[in-house]
Amino acid sequence: ICWSEKGGWHRPRVQPYGPISLDPAAAVLHYGQEIFEGIKAYRHADGAVYTFRPDRNAERLRRSARRLALPELPTEYFIQSIRELIAVDGAWVPSGADQSLYLRPFMFAKEAFLGVRPAKKVAYYLIASPAGAYFTGGVKPVRIWLSKTYARAGKGGTGAAKTGGNYASSLLPQAEASAQGCDQVVFLDQDGNVEELGGMNVVFVYKDGRVVTPQSDSILEGITRDSLLQLAEDRGLTVERRAVSLDEWRQGVASGDIVEVFACGTAAVVTPIGALVSDDFEDEQPLGELALSLREELTDIQYGRREDKHGWLVRVD
Ligand code: PMP
Repeated sequence: ICWSEKGGWHRPRVQPYGPISLDPAAAVLHYGQEIFEGIKAYRHADGAVYTFRPDRNAERLRRSARRLALPELPTEYFIQSIRELIAVDGAWVPSGADQSLYLRPFMFAKEAFLGVRPAKKVAYYLIASPAGAYFTGGVKPVRIWLSKTYARAGKGGTGAAKTGGNYASSLLPQAEASAQGCDQVVFLDQDGNVEELGGMNVVFVYKDGRVVTPQSDSILEGITRDSLLQLAEDRGLTVERRAVSLDEWRQGVASGDIVEVFACGTAAVVTPIGALVSDDFEDEQPLGELALSLREELTDIQYGRREDKHGWLVRVD
């Protein structure tokens, strides 16, 4: 779908997958004016295809659009784009345990000019790719590298938007994490509070049943996290969204108050954190039952194996 200042959203169409032609002066190539989403389509046992809370992805795309001075795509266009893509060939959505069609909606500034201002011509695309199980051979706890050198986002920055620049700034720390034998990097904010991983939110489980997740205006609000916390509340657990300092994390684990730490996002759903590593310490993390039990409950809902009490599924075929 194209957007221009004069014409608004227009020209929705499905076209064969292939290269996009762009003017070398297209604003996105110079100023990074772009945003995206990540969402999956699941095939149920009866053959029907569903997405999970697509209205939330559409809403987040609009929030990202506002921060990046891009036009807001209405929710119905967002969901319609998924329906039309899947209508081309429903067989794209694989069946089988942990199989899905990963959908990548994205929007970028294509107006050609050199100068720093919001573009007046924008394109929205949706591409898709079948995705298998994130973990082969079962969910494994991950080792997390604490980056003390690099930040992902700053106050008033674009941290809460899903825009390429945030991921660009996470590439070097992620490479540092890999060089240190870790799977992922965790970022802190300027005040020493825990933010998130490069592509997942973090959740702490306390001995007294509280489930705590970092909240700030520079964290990307995960839809997986929101759903898991709702399921935790349904089980009678108390959920807290607030600042969590690194000290609270480390002391909580050392004292036994924190009994479980996990990360969550669309791709992996839930992964327990097994170790927190930095240049001067390595804290082993306690492994509990809640992460995997919530993971099972959520994936059961997504694949239609359990009742969708909250009305989260939207049929798209
Ligand atoms: N934080 C970041 C930085 C991410 O890229 C993602 C993945 N979209 C998440 C958190 C988790 O979000 P969601 O649960 O909506 O996939």
